Order: sequence, then structure tokens, then C-alpha cells
Amino acid sequence: MNKIGYLYDPFFMLHDTGAGHIETPRRVEAIDELVTEKYDFTPIPSRLGSKEELLMVHDDEYIDWIEHGYENGVRMIISSDTIVSELSYDVALKAATSTKNAIEFFKQGLGKRAFLNLRPPGHHAEIITGQGFCIFNNVAMMARYAQNAGYAKVIIIDFDVHHGNGTQDIFYEDPTVFYFSTHEKNNYPFTGSEDETGKGEGVGFNRNIPYHDYLEDEELLSFYDRLPKDFDFDMVLVSAGYDLMKDELISSAQITFDGIRGVVRKILDYAGDKPVAFLLEGGYNIDSLVHSVDVTLEELVK
Ligand SMILES: [Zn+2]
Repeated sequence: MNKIGYLYDPFFMLHDTGAGHIETPRRVEAIDELVTEKYDFTPIPSRLGSKEELLMVHDDEYIDWIEHGYENGVRMIISSDTIVSELSYDVALKAATSTKNAIEFFKQGLGKRAFLNLRPPGHHAEIITGQGFCIFNNVAMMARYAQNAGYAKVIIIDFDVHHGNGTQDIFYEDPTVFYFSTHEKNNYPFTGSEDETGKGEGVGFNRNIPYHDYLEDEELLSFYDRLPKDFDFDMVLVSAGYDLMKDELISSAQITFDGIRGVVRKILDYAGDKPVAFLLEGGYNIDSLVHSVDVTLEELVK
């Protein structure tokens, strides 16, 4: 049985999105209850890094704006779905900078697989702004921490039903981080077309696979044949968004639990003996989310 690292902190619940918001603290709490009851994972401690660390990924003016946002009366980023509450900056900073400890878990040889139960999610957060429930880009931060620790090349695989416009933005001109995304075409944020392949030195290191409405398992699984075969990666990071499942409310995709199990298996097979971390992104139907994460974890421990 593989040793699995698991990162969670109840502090992640304190980003207060308000009553009726689908990105609720219950999401991470319910996942933590599952992990506590069923699995015997190695805890990865959270950490509150410095705001300077965020400069690896984000613009300093944006970081300052969020840091002092609540006290200056800011209550949302771009639109009313991306909330700024009293502790949002601290929670988002902690989620993003805690990813460094997952790199340490790998670096110390404690295990090769990890699940990061993070909140708020991150993949819509671009260099200069958060949006789409995301404040700071967790997976992008983890990729930079990985590189600083000697993992030179990182591939980010994003199966959230939405395109990770933020992650694409951050690494668009960077040939050392490959971004691979499958996502619903007619859905927020309406980016991620197939011809967005990178810019400058980054051309060829960004691969989008947009799909039609009502996608089913078989077609989703076939997309994984298009993972890059010649990118010599040192680590695999997964933007694990479970809003592609058939019981989710904000997409039309019809993915079953067998389907997501197949996706996770394909990613693990692709990773081989390289470290792999799954970072929670979307997934808003609590029952479906917990079951999907459970299926993911069952594959991780095999
Ligand atoms: Zn999503």
C-alpha cells in the first residue's frame, strides 16, 4: 500500500461565502470526515506562508488589494460569486502556501502521492486577479514550489469541468510547466479553445480539450490519449475539480463514478513513479463530491 499524504486545515472553512453559495465550507469538511473515517493517511501540516511567496504567481498590486480588501470595503472580486470575507485573504494565503509542505512530503521521500483538501479553489485565479470562486492559484503556487525544490518540469492536468484560465494565464509563456485541460466548451469562463497552445517559448506546452455538452465517460477517457508523450516531467499536479459529475448542477457533463475512477487511473498510470498530487478545485453537490473523492483515494492507495 502506498503512503498517501493528506493536507487539510479546518481554517479553510473560515472563508465565508455566505448563505446559499455553492462553494460552501461544508465541501472540505465533508471530505475530511470521509478521510478521517476511512483512510490512514500521513498528515501534511498546513502552513501560513508570507505574502511575498505569492509573487511567484501573482501581481503585487493584486496581492495588496486582496490583503487589505476587506478593511477597505471590498466584498467581491469581479463579480458577486467570488466573495471577499473578513478572513478570505488569510485562508486563501494559507491554502496556497500550504502546498509547499506537500512538496516537502515528496522531497523527504515520505510518499509519492498526496491529496490536498484545499479551499478556496484556485484554477481561475490569473496573475492579476481572482475570479470564479478563486482568490490565489493553489496549483500554480505548488508548481513553483516544486521547481524551487528541484522538480524542474511539472505537468498540471486539470479535469474540472471549467477551463483553468488562471493556470493557463500564469504558465502560457513557460515551457517548464505543461498545462493540460479538459473542460466543457459552453461553460464559464468560456476560454480554453484548442488553438490556445501557448506563447513565445511556451508554444506547445498548453493543451486544451474543450468538449460538447452532456459528455459521457468513454469520450472523456479517450482524451487522456492526448497527454503529452515527450514532456519529461518530474511531478504531476492535478486540478481535481469534481463538477463534471452527472449529479452536479453547474454543468451538463454526465460522468459517472466509474468514469472518474478511470480518469484517476489514467493519470496515475501516466505519472508512473513520479510524485502526483491532487488538489481540490470544484465539486458542489456534497454527496457526489465526497463519493468522487472517495473513488479518487481508493485508486491512490492501490
Ligand atoms: Zn469548476
